[in-house]
Amino acid sequence: MKTRQVDVVIAGAGLSGLSVARFLRRDRPELSLLVLEKSDRPGGAILSHCEEGYLAEWGAHGFLDNCAESRALLALAGLEGEVEKAPLGKFVRYVCLGGKLRLIPQKPGKIIAAPLVPLWAKLRVLGDLWKKPLPGEPTVAEWVAHRFGSSLLPFADAVFTGTYAGDIDRLKIDAVMPGVRGLEREHGSVIRGLLRKRAGMKKGPGKRPLLPAMTSFKTGMGRLPQALAEGLRLNEEMYYRSGVAAVSPAADGWWEVRTSQHVIRCRHLVLALPANQTLALLDQVREIAPPPMASIPEAKIATIALGFTDRARVPFGFGYLAPEQEHRFALGALFSSHMFPGRAPRGHLLLEALVGGRRHPDRLELDDEELVSRVYNDLRRLLDLPEEPSFARVLRPGAGIPQLEEGYPALLDWLDGQCGGHAGLHVCGFGWRGIGINDMTKEAAKVAAAILETTGSRGAEAEVKPVYF
Ligand SMILES: Cc1cc2nc3c(=O)[nH]c(=O)nc-3n(C[C@H](O)[C@H](O)[C@H](O)COP(=O)(O)OP(=O)(O)OC[C@H]3O[C@@H](n4cnc5c(N)ncnc54)[C@H](O)[C@@H]3O)c2cc1C
Repeated sequence: MKTRQVDVVIAGAGLSGLSVARFLRRDRPELSLLVLEKSDRPGGAILSHCEEGYLAEWGAHGFLDNCAESRALLALAGLEGEVEKAPLGKFVRYVCLGGKLRLIPQKPGKIIAAPLVPLWAKLRVLGDLWKKPLPGEPTVAEWVAHRFGSSLLPFADAVFTGTYAGDIDRLKIDAVMPGVRGLEREHGSVIRGLLRKRAGMKKGPGKRPLLPAMTSFKTGMGRLPQALAEGLRLNEEMYYRSGVAAVSPAADGWWEVRTSQHVIRCRHLVLALPANQTLALLDQVREIAPPPMASIPEAKIATIALGFTDRARVPFGFGYLAPEQEHRFALGALFSSHMFPGRAPRGHLLLEALVGGRRHPDRLELDDEELVSRVYNDLRRLLDLPEEPSFARVLRPGAGIPQLEEGYPALLDWLDGQCGGHAGLHVCGFGWRGIGINDMTKEAAKVAAAILETTGSRGAEAEVKPVYF
């Protein structure tokens, strides 16, 4: 068993762990740090797939460029020249309603004007100005129906299918949109709160920001963790195939971290793992109070990448999402080669359909051939696809998307209590205070800042995210 001593150990070389490492390197290069990664590559849930001239994604397809921490990370990774952007202002999304694709404009004013719901349903949205905040821990569906009326449920369903692959009858509004819930509490109405925020921005210096852009890289999202990891010295600052098996606080206030081959002592321990892996590790620590729940649910999805010749006619945009009430096979599909041209060979286009999610895990039991055939049959009822796909690949990521459901706020309180009560313990990662890339980089920056003792701030005001990915 080899032993080492470093200032900081980071468990996990996904985007969260790599971000903590690179922020620390930038601000305090003299700190000794070590990233321990269970697998043989960086990136965790982020991985790109290149085959026959198509470029698809196992996990994340992109992130919005409206997050300062993610932009800082791009600069640290030296990737600004490799970025590809699909501006939200130029693109549209579609929602499947009544068996047809309906265009959703990007700007709030145009959404209100669009004939997506009848006039009475639009007027009901204004009911938000008078509705009292719902007490307790309402689900997204209960909360949306209460504040804005049930006509908006299919749209809420589409949003949370597109982000969490989740079920709005189980996701909790306080967990998935704490910022919006904060507006409701503070101003008595979400609309009033947003208008006041907007007025404040108008009064402030400079113009209001433009709509952000969906961002990826010429060689796909996998490029980001790869470039971040390249900045760390292999076998000195980064160990692959080194899963953390156990952690424990030592009597002198340091932490001891065990892998199958190493025992490492560190002053700061960062668990940058998906929520369930962190819960499993902390559960073994005698000094840590047991969590209110042993694990949180996860939603698995498969990506069915389909290539078509240019006889296929697909409307311009990001893609579409299908609310559950439509009873479709696929949750939706990304029009990937519209978003990022160059993801398909010349004269071809790439669609990436998503299947499974919180409501339909059974569909992931189907074999690849069946999945491809059922997705193609589903898509061609919505899109003009006269020929069978000329390319098909099923990508089944191992990672599930954490679902922030019943009991999640209590779990966060427990986590804050443990991190506050055990010096040197820091937690960020997939499912802790969000699930998107920008959530991960923000939390990683907070952990790095806490380690550098510039701030220990955890209780910052919950952000109102203008657009979800
Ligand atoms: C299918 C899918 C689609 C997504 N799409 C988007 C999107 O379009 N936009 C967006 O913003 N976000 C998206 N996300 C979310 C995004 O991918 C995550 O926010 C992000 O990748 C999480 O990074 P992480 O480092 O926290 O966790 P992970 O990526 O899960 O990394 C954790 C790392 O820890 C390692 N590990 C686990 N256990 C141990 C251990 N005991 N010891 C050491 N190492 C360990 C794992 O091998 C892994 O490398 C998607 C996620 C999925 C699954």
